Amino acid sequence: MLEEAVQVLQKYFGYPSFREGQAKIITSILERNDTFAIMPTGAGKSLCYQIPALLFPGTTLVVSPLISLMKDQVDALKDVGIAASFINSSLTQRELNLRLEEAQAGQYRILYVAPERLDSEDFLAMATQMTIGLVAIDEAHCVSQWGHDFRRSYRLIPKFIKRLPERPVMAAFTATATEEVKADIIKLLDLADPHIYVTGFDRPNLHFRVLRNQNKERFLLEYLAAHRGDSGIIYAATRKEVDKVYAKLQEKGFPVGKYHAGMTDKERELAQEAFVFDNVGLMVATNAFGMGIDKSNVRFVIHYNLPKNMESYYQEAGRAGRDGEPSECILLYSPQDIIIQKFLIEQSVYSPVRQKHEYQKLQIMADYAHTSQCLRKFILEYFGEEGVANRCRNCSNCLDASELVDMTVDAQKIISCIVRMEEQYGTTVIAEVLKGSRTKKVLQQRFDRLSTYGLMKQYTTAEIRDMINWLIAENYLQLTEGKYPVVKLRPKAYQVLKGKEQVYQRKIALPVKTENNEELFDALRRLRKRIADREGVPPYIVFADSTLREMCRNIPGTMAELAQIKGVGETKLQKYGLEFLEVLKTYRAGDPGTSDPSLSWDIEEIEETEEPVKAKIPSHHQTWQRFSDGLSVEEIARERNLTEQTIQNHLLRCHQEGLAVDWDRIIDPEVEILVLGKIAELATIKLKPLKEALPEEISYFDIQAVIARHQKQGS
Ligand code: ADP
Ligand code: MG
Repeated sequence: MLEEAVQVLQKYFGYPSFREGQAKIITSILERNDTFAIMPTGAGKSLCYQIPALLFPGTTLVVSPLISLMKDQVDALKDVGIAASFINSSLTQRELNLRLEEAQAGQYRILYVAPERLDSEDFLAMATQMTIGLVAIDEAHCVSQWGHDFRRSYRLIPKFIKRLPERPVMAAFTATATEEVKADIIKLLDLADPHIYVTGFDRPNLHFRVLRNQNKERFLLEYLAAHRGDSGIIYAATRKEVDKVYAKLQEKGFPVGKYHAGMTDKERELAQEAFVFDNVGLMVATNAFGMGIDKSNVRFVIHYNLPKNMESYYQEAGRAGRDGEPSECILLYSPQDIIIQKFLIEQSVYSPVRQKHEYQKLQIMADYAHTSQCLRKFILEYFGEEGVANRCRNCSNCLDASELVDMTVDAQKIISCIVRMEEQYGTTVIAEVLKGSRTKKVLQQRFDRLSTYGLMKQYTTAEIRDMINWLIAENYLQLTEGKYPVVKLRPKAYQVLKGKEQVYQRKIALPVKTENNEELFDALRRLRKRIADREGVPPYIVFADSTLREMCRNIPGTMAELAQIKGVGETKLQKYGLEFLEVLKTYRAGDPGTSDPSLSWDIEEIEETEEPVKAKIPSHHQTWQRFSDGLSVEEIARERNLTEQTIQNHLLRCHQEGLAVDWDRIIDPEVEILVLGKIAELATIKLKPLKEALPEEISYFDIQAVIARHQKQGS
């Protein structure tokens, strides 16, 4: 039975095999058992019901809580050639009627439905006429009041099932379930002797990292600069902080969106869409963001502030790397974060008992920020996993990519300065004294007479402040609470002062990208984005990052080779194969200087060929000069030792920049007539449909040249 399932997996989804857990769960469902699966985010729960849906007769109903997710999932299914649809409140009455009709006629293999629908008479009338082999309940924890997103309408499910003429197999899925929630799910969904499967919480592809008191802003800017083009989320604790970070990133020219509860629904919807569609790579957000986003190519999640507890942290950080590719989860911690979170708890409407509980959870989060043990072990043990290895070798505490720097002397200077200032001042004034600043406060208090005045003048005030904050985070110093926090010594500080303890700071090197072929990856990523825009779906639905990565490693040259890549199923191969081969082709020849013609239309996207000798004149202008001198494309290519394609791209780029290109010398009049005819017929200047409709010997460049020439002439 599983063999058949594997065939379906390969044919539609292009994956060679099931992941751990999936095979057992699918077998259980295919054997017609009620099934309950607890698997972490990104483990691949969707396939566990989608594959049986294709093997069962009739239609599979999927109950899912989030409208945005339904649409994405249905888009993804359609994109691999599976008849699927959804019914929820986003439809007009007319759309709804049509879908009910089509569903009743059995036209869908998979039908997503919002739980509220289940007691609508129209829906019931339709359902009783259908063959429903399987009902899958996604995010099943929503049925429990103890879960974190209780949805009353999930309670309608058992009643609905009872009214069906035949009881379907039921399968429930969730990523998080405590014992209480687990029991609730089984009872409230009325599962019949369910087979229960729990796979571990570990996400091996996630790299965990904690940075204490590095300068957050500087770190963020450096990190983002080193990861340009990647998609990532930056979580901050408050709206104000989100606004601040967002403004900073915008100022620095990063493509960034923001999301918090202070924005209107519409603003938030647009921001979310821009992120999902890769129109902006970065999202700065409060914890209001992320539910209902299945975007698989999130490469990093940075917490700019400490989150309130481990549950939130793991859920938010877990939005990185759903596609299984290496991804980073970075926590930037400073002691002020604790003060903010405590404040938020105090402001909450929780009962005193619950508040105490929240403080304890916050403390555990602070422990995580300080621990020197394996971060992954810390997390997994928190969630009750047993037998976790001591070292994961994929977190900042396990990997020794860092270098220890002895800062004992600086620490002594800082501590003795605080003693001389009688532990009465905040970080800023202390830093000013050590710097030797002549600010009003320093002079008023006569701190310029202290022996520690100006003792660290080789640093900037900001650097000294960072060091003080770091000493606070490392428990040498402490910050009092209240409006004007004051720095005081902790016992460890006296040891340092007496020379009994050395102070070492870990300087963490910025990660170096280990992947080679970044250039090809970028080219594939851009092609994916163009296709996604054309089809109106998010880019990750076209192909996951993991699929593009594998293309970079193997560089397939034929449709057959492309079909071997994970994530390339039959439908997608037909739909997108040629375009991807076109890009891959140029890299196969070992000539990364040539870019794909279908990509080169946008000026910014054209890759520049390095030419150290005549670096002053841009490469495409050199081409243009020679072309204007009367050389042909072929001759220029030979002379400059570049491919003809590159030369063609140069000319297109010059044209876009407004330089006159004599297209008459390039365009064959017969080709021109054909191309213009197709443009009129299809009423489009989109390259791909034109290319497909025209004879094969007409190249992308021919089409682009014709368009360029006629645009220039204003027609
Ligand atoms: P979950 O719902 O458990 O969070 P998803 O169903 O959204 O996870 O799947 C996460 C990602 O894993 C998707 O990109 C999916 O295509 C991929 N995936 C699922 N199963 C497999 C598999 N057997 N092989 C490769 N990739 C898979
Ligand atoms: Mg899911």
